[in-house]
Amino acid sequence: MTMRTVYVNGDYLPENEAKVSIFDRGFLMADGVYEVTSVLGAKLIDFDGHFARLQRSLDELEMPHPAALDSLLEVHRELVRLNEIEDGMIYLQITRGAPDDRDFAFPDPGTTAPTVVLFTQNKPGMADSPAAKTGIKVISIADQRWGRRDIKTVQLLYPSMGKMMAKAAGADDAWMVEDGVVTEGTSNNAYIVKGGTIITRHLGNEILHGITRAAVLRFAREAQMKVEERAFSIAEAQGADEAFITSASTFVMPVVEIDGTKIGSGVPGTVAARLRDIYLDESRKAAQ
Ligand code: PLP
Repeated sequence: MTMRTVYVNGDYLPENEAKVSIFDRGFLMADGVYEVTSVLGAKLIDFDGHFARLQRSLDELEMPHPAALDSLLEVHRELVRLNEIEDGMIYLQITRGAPDDRDFAFPDPGTTAPTVVLFTQNKPGMADSPAAKTGIKVISIADQRWGRRDIKTVQLLYPSMGKMMAKAAGADDAWMVEDGVVTEGTSNNAYIVKGGTIITRHLGNEILHGITRAAVLRFAREAQMKVEERAFSIAEAQGADEAFITSASTFVMPVVEIDGTKIGSGVPGTVAARLRDIYLDESRKAAQ
C-alpha cells in the first residue's frame, strides 16, 4: 500500500511518522470514541450525521470537545484530497488524551487535551461490492458487550471476537442476541422483511444508533414502505422473506443465511436491493 497522509492533533503526516503516547487513554483504557464516514466519488456520505453522533458520544462520556471539532469537515476533505480517495472511508478517533501516568480517574481536561487521529482507507469501487449481489451469511452469538452500545467507543474486542466466531463457522458476520432477541450485527444494524414490512430493533442503549439506519428508514418511509421498529428473534428472522444489514461501509447488504438456514429463497431480496439503490442514489446526491 502506498504511504498515506494521516492527521494527528493538528498535523498532516506520513503514516509512519505519526505518533501517539503509550499513556494515551485510548491505548490503556479504550477511553475513546470513533466514527467511520464513507467517501463516494471523492465526497463524504452523511458527514452531518456522523458529526452529530460524535458530539453525542463525547458528551455521554464527559469527554471535552477538542478544538479540532470546529474544522472537522475541512480535515476530512483535506485527507480525501491528499490521499486521492475516490471511494473509501475516513476513520476518526478521539480519545481522552495522554496524561503523564496511568490512572483510572479521568485526567484534568485543563491539562490533558484529547487526542484526535484521522486516516483514510482506500476502497475503489466500494459501492459495487460483489457481496451485495450474492448476500452474506451470518451466525448468531450471545451479545456480551457492555450496556452502553449507543456510544460509539473503541472498545471493539467482543465484536472482533464475534467476527472471528463467524469466520470459524464459515460465515461472514455474527448477529448478537440478548434476552432471546437480536440486538445488532458486530459492526452493523440488523433487519428483516416480512410481508413487505421492514423490521429493525428499536433504538435504546442496547444498540448503536446507526447513521445509515436513520437514513435508510427515512428513505423507506418516504417511499411508502412499512417500517416497524421492534426487536425480533433469530427464529423470526429465519422465517422472514428477507434479511439485511446496514452500516456506513456496507450501505445496505443482503443477508441470505442465518445459522445455516436460508432466508426466503436463499438469494438477496428485492426490498434490500431497492433500499440499497435508493440509499446510494440519495446519499451520493447529498454528499459533501
Ligand atoms: N452497530 C454497530 C455495533 C456498529 O459498529 C456500526 C458501525 O460501525 C453500526 C451499527 C452501523 O452504524 P453506521 O450506519 O453509523 O455505520
